[in-house]
Amino acid sequence: MRLCSAEGFADRTVMEGIVILGSTGSIGVNTLAVIRQNPGRFSVEGLSGHDNVALLAQQIREFRPKQVAIGEGRGAHLQALIAELRPQPEILEGIAGQCRIAEAPSATRVVAAVVGAAGIKPVMAAIRAGKTIALANKECLVMAGALLMEEARRRAVRILPIDSEHNAIFQALQGAADNSIDHLTLTASGGPFRRKPSAEFGSISLQEALRHPNWQMGQKITIDSATMMNKCLEIIEARWLFDLPAAKIKVLVHPQSVIHSLVTFRDGSTLCQLGLADMRIPIAYCLGFPERIPSGAGWLDLAALGSLTFEEPDPVKFPALRIAYEVLALGGGAPAALNGANETLVGLFLQERIRFTQISDILQALVARLRVIGETGAPDEWQCLQEVRQWEDAIQADAWGRAFALRQATEAVTGTSTRQRSSDGSAETRVPT
Ligand code: MG
Repeated sequence: MRLCSAEGFADRTVMEGIVILGSTGSIGVNTLAVIRQNPGRFSVEGLSGHDNVALLAQQIREFRPKQVAIGEGRGAHLQALIAELRPQPEILEGIAGQCRIAEAPSATRVVAAVVGAAGIKPVMAAIRAGKTIALANKECLVMAGALLMEEARRRAVRILPIDSEHNAIFQALQGAADNSIDHLTLTASGGPFRRKPSAEFGSISLQEALRHPNWQMGQKITIDSATMMNKCLEIIEARWLFDLPAAKIKVLVHPQSVIHSLVTFRDGSTLCQLGLADMRIPIAYCLGFPERIPSGAGWLDLAALGSLTFEEPDPVKFPALRIAYEVLALGGGAPAALNGANETLVGLFLQERIRFTQISDILQALVARLRVIGETGAPDEWQCLQEVRQWEDAIQADAWGRAFALRQATEAVTGTSTRQRSSDGSAETRVPT
């Protein structure tokens, strides 16, 4: 970043301070790869990880942040791994630690790459501290998109989407007036089961579901791609990021993942962004914005690809797409409840405790239950399902969804009910009925 001197001319180069929340995950590792491509431009002020202490230690050695955060109870282990470093970074733990580094005065940009609902508090802390947010955590927008965008507007904070589809839309919208959009089209690879007959879905193994045809990603999002819940969450994400009604957000299956999404304007023009399926491209856009900086990714060779294909999504085989519009219509805490339930179910599937098809079966049961609550009214303690007035409501609705999913999954196996901790691990929640 170049700053002007008193004489009015750029006479020195100042490194831009960056904090990466979730630096040991797939987006975090790719963010550091882009920073490596741009020596002298960025200074890494803070890093956070959850349980990959060894990788975080390695990143600390290379990038020398002033502050780091690791999961609860892991600080001493991390400290031991970097004991000889001078100066030592301040080592913090848990969500409170992440909130502290999100507010680091020396950073102007915060990359929010923590997976799941755990990312919501640090993102809010970064917005309140006035940081530009490079947002990879879609769950924040799914759970409380209206609140997050309102808070960002109030503090004049820019939210730059890292998610490749939303990043493509954001790029295509540069220079466009708000009233010029007719609709958005999110592209979807269709995941590994696009061609699999639904009759065979019952026997899908964890290994098959973890094999994404185009993208190398973390486990949670890879399973979400296989169920197409990822696209469901992205529809909700787009609704808030671009402030458009759900009816103006469409999905198109594009198996090659070359066109990352499209914007259609009132005049009939459609703009899109193309690139290799490499997350370093949207990450570099968010790190450099409004400039474009090297990402380290290769160029697209369209002649070598030869052709791009498109098809309508199948909402019968993938009910997740329908669910997105249903929870948006229900409003209130319904998207947050859906998100919590999905995280729980993906976790159970990754532990091979439920079948692949149980994920969407239980999510559909959750939507049916939410619809009944919407018609009959929620008990006082679950008002959060009908109205999200503050962040805590979204977190409570998320916890309701988790408990609902866990109860349904447990009953399917044992016929018993159970209890579960809330998303931030701070309180135990009663299992809903
Ligand atoms: Mg995406």
